[in-house]
Amino acid sequence: MSYLLKKLIRPDILLYCITAFFLSEIILSTPNKPGCVHIDKFCHSILWCLIMTTPKEIRLKDYSPPDFLIEQVALVFDIQPGETRVTSTLSLFRNPAGARPSAELKMDMGEYAIDSVTLDGHPVSADAFQTDEKQFVMPDVPDRFTLEICNRIIPEKNTRLEGLYLSRGIYCTQCEAEGFRHITPFIDRPDVMAGFACTLIADRDVCPVLLSNGNPVEKGNLPDNRHYVRWEDPFKKPCYLFALVAGNLSYIESPFTTKSGRDITLRIFAEPRNIHQCRHAMDCLKQAVKWDEDRFDLEFDLDLYQIAAINDFNAGAMENKGLNIFNARYVLADPSSATDEDFMNIQRVIGHEYFHNWTGNRVTLKNWFQLSLKEGLTVFRDQEFTSDLNSRAVERITHVKNLRAFQFPEDSGPMVHPVLPEAYIKMDNFYTMTVYEKGSELVRMIHQLLGETAFQQGMVLYFEKFDGLAVTIEDFCRSWPRPAIWT
Ligand SMILES: [Zn+2]
Repeated sequence: MSYLLKKLIRPDILLYCITAFFLSEIILSTPNKPGCVHIDKFCHSILWCLIMTTPKEIRLKDYSPPDFLIEQVALVFDIQPGETRVTSTLSLFRNPAGARPSAELKMDMGEYAIDSVTLDGHPVSADAFQTDEKQFVMPDVPDRFTLEICNRIIPEKNTRLEGLYLSRGIYCTQCEAEGFRHITPFIDRPDVMAGFACTLIADRDVCPVLLSNGNPVEKGNLPDNRHYVRWEDPFKKPCYLFALVAGNLSYIESPFTTKSGRDITLRIFAEPRNIHQCRHAMDCLKQAVKWDEDRFDLEFDLDLYQIAAINDFNAGAMENKGLNIFNARYVLADPSSATDEDFMNIQRVIGHEYFHNWTGNRVTLKNWFQLSLKEGLTVFRDQEFTSDLNSRAVERITHVKNLRAFQFPEDSGPMVHPVLPEAYIKMDNFYTMTVYEKGSELVRMIHQLLGETAFQQGMVLYFEKFDGLAVTIEDFCRSWPRPAIWT
């Protein structure tokens, strides 16, 4: 009943109901009783409206490969006061494995206007594509082409905190799960992996620091006190791993020599007044890079690993390739006031986001139903990290207490769902204890059954087979010989 009342309170639903009621009166009322209220028709109207407005489920069994793939993306962000101009150049081609060989190009988009479109260098007229606040559709396209789209967004007014937003003078992005579409039109799904290059342009005083994924390849000055930095990420990734940070930030850095002898730089950015509180986070980051080499034989793959601590970052932390964005509380620790729990949380979250570089980024998800493939596996890895570096018994007791306090109630309540669900309505509601914690317990079960040596042999096969691909939980489970797990 409360669900019905909640629905009726929304003005748009009320309007639907009233319209439906009068339509049913006009169509169905008897001529000799004009204006007579028919309760049965009124109830039918409400029922009709509820059916029409019930959110549509997205089902795993309806998955189909994308009709188009994107080979390369070149983004230019021209950050101005009050608006940011985005130019996106996409190298697109029809997916040979697509289900519809002559499908129109459909891309996800947000609530912004398109300024211009060019196809293979030729301007496209406005009637050659259609847009609404959700989709960009272009019916007549070749099998392989370059599309340049210019649009404007307003990070200053973005209170959704998805896509690009401005908070306390710092521009930053959050694109997981479906935030990238609010920046520029894109095929916003994890199985579309592209090479990304990103050029950031801004006023030198407002945004002295301009960060994105990968390695910085070019920077310089422009007229009117503006400057630019160009970033290139050599690894293909889905757009949910794209990141941008621009503003007045300070940093600390530390060199690190990887297991194979490569010299890399670890860098942590924070507001200038907080930068002295980043030392513990840097120590934890070095521990994490070393631990992943020693325990999983996984090295960091870029020249530069960056963390940006943002005060108003909505999620706890985000594993964007080469540029993690953290809520500042998971980075900053004042030695004079931080508790043991604060220090432990920083170690856990720094480790977790770093470990995603392989479990989530290098091997990513075929679709969002597979979320536990990156989260369950990475929680298992961060739990092993903190167990190896601290007391394993205390860590395990803490994890089991959490399961009892949060997982068990979820399993016995209305939110109960499998680690690999069959359907969801909104992806944002799917970041649950089950996906994270129960998912990690399933990985732990495989580890427990096989032992460390056989488990690590399967992990080697998993990365050998699926590096650079978007895969499923079943693919992960097949990394070990079937009888080893299933008998
Ligand atoms: Zn995670």
